[in-house]
Amino acid sequence: MKETIENFIQESEENLKDYFQAQDKIAFENSKKVLNAFKENNVNEACFNMTTGYGYNDLGRDTIEKVYAHIFKSEDALVRSQFISGTHALTTALFACLRPGDTMLSITGKPYDTLDEVIGIEENKSSLKAFGIQYEQIDLIENKFDQEKIKKILLTKKVKLIEIQRSKGYSTRKSILIEELEEIIAFIKNIDKDVIVMIDNCYCEFVSTKEPIEVGADLAVGSLIKNLGAGMVSNGAYIVGRKDLIQLCAERLNVPGEGREVGPSLGMNRQFLLGLYMAPTVVNSAIKTAQLTSYLLEKIGFEVEPKYFEKRADIVQTIIFHDQNKLIKYCQAIQSSSPIDANVKPIPWDMPGYQDQVIMAAGTFTQGSSIELSCDGPIKEPYIAYQQGSLTYEYGKLAIINAIKQLQETKAKDSQ
Ligand SMILES: *Cc1c(COP(=O)(O)O)cnc(C)c1O
Repeated sequence: MKETIENFIQESEENLKDYFQAQDKIAFENSKKVLNAFKENNVNEACFNMTTGYGYNDLGRDTIEKVYAHIFKSEDALVRSQFISGTHALTTALFACLRPGDTMLSITGKPYDTLDEVIGIEENKSSLKAFGIQYEQIDLIENKFDQEKIKKILLTKKVKLIEIQRSKGYSTRKSILIEELEEIIAFIKNIDKDVIVMIDNCYCEFVSTKEPIEVGADLAVGSLIKNLGAGMVSNGAYIVGRKDLIQLCAERLNVPGEGREVGPSLGMNRQFLLGLYMAPTVVNSAIKTAQLTSYLLEKIGFEVEPKYFEKRADIVQTIIFHDQNKLIKYCQAIQSSSPIDANVKPIPWDMPGYQDQVIMAAGTFTQGSSIELSCDGPIKEPYIAYQQGSLTYEYGKLAIINAIKQLQETKAKDSQ
């Protein structure tokens, strides 16, 4: 048994060689981009110094924001540990751009679950809706943008901001490739050049060699406990894009009139820089882990998305189990290969903001970090596991080997 699994893995890696190599090339290009941005913006040892209190004149913080702007080819950037999550940064950007009477439109269906109460899809007295901001939504049709509906709404109604969420979240759709993003932004801007296009870029950074601002987006937002923190950053998020909009975001996050000038870095500049420096390599490990998972789980009979040979937009791998017990077993196996809390057995649980129970494997150094190997799924048909991350390919591979063994043991038991 042991030997067959080892042979199986070896054969898989041989068949994945070309796909791994293609990903290595992307990591190389992105490393070049990062290194160049460090040099051009004169990242130096003084950047590791910190400010406290108001955080005036924080050289490191201001340099980091220039480095981000360089990498994203954007006019400006806001990179702060005062963002407590990706959702917080998305919320900041939405409240910064939208005013009472304005309309926000999502063209990738319902946004990420944590935005329900922000937008007012779920009742909340502090939502955008409570401030008189309208919300419209257009679903994807078979993973494609519904251009007809988008055009119709843009021609009949003044839309202030369009939100595009690239990664699939807890849905069954595919994630949005950078090429698809480019095409739809051109389509939108051709109808209304003034509409603000805001991208939820969570999980997509450094998966390809282009980022959203380069293909015409006005703002892009992401979390630092995902791709760009590379597991080195304890919290924070970023917003990149147009200078006037970044100014509005800074004033919304901090204080009108003080904007980006305040916000102490409290000793986090070094982690932010180190995380960014490692990010191309760590994202590469996460993608290889996803490709290996996709290949192996499909070979042993499960439905997967994306397939191992498909082009990826993000680091998320879904496995569709069609079986509650297998989903639970798989998540438990991933947890048992984690560096932290390996001996904890996750069970399905009621989570705030989710309709169904959710099982989560997350034996991570940073709470909720999902650039670290993590796997979770709502307990509902068709019982999908959403797996992402792995700081190294080797640790990812160890976890998948373990998970496959566990699944096969259950199978053997079932057939007895
Ligand atoms: C992770 C994520 C977010 C934000 O999540 P936080 O947990 O608040 O950081 C938003 N959108 C997508 C697609 C995500 O993957």
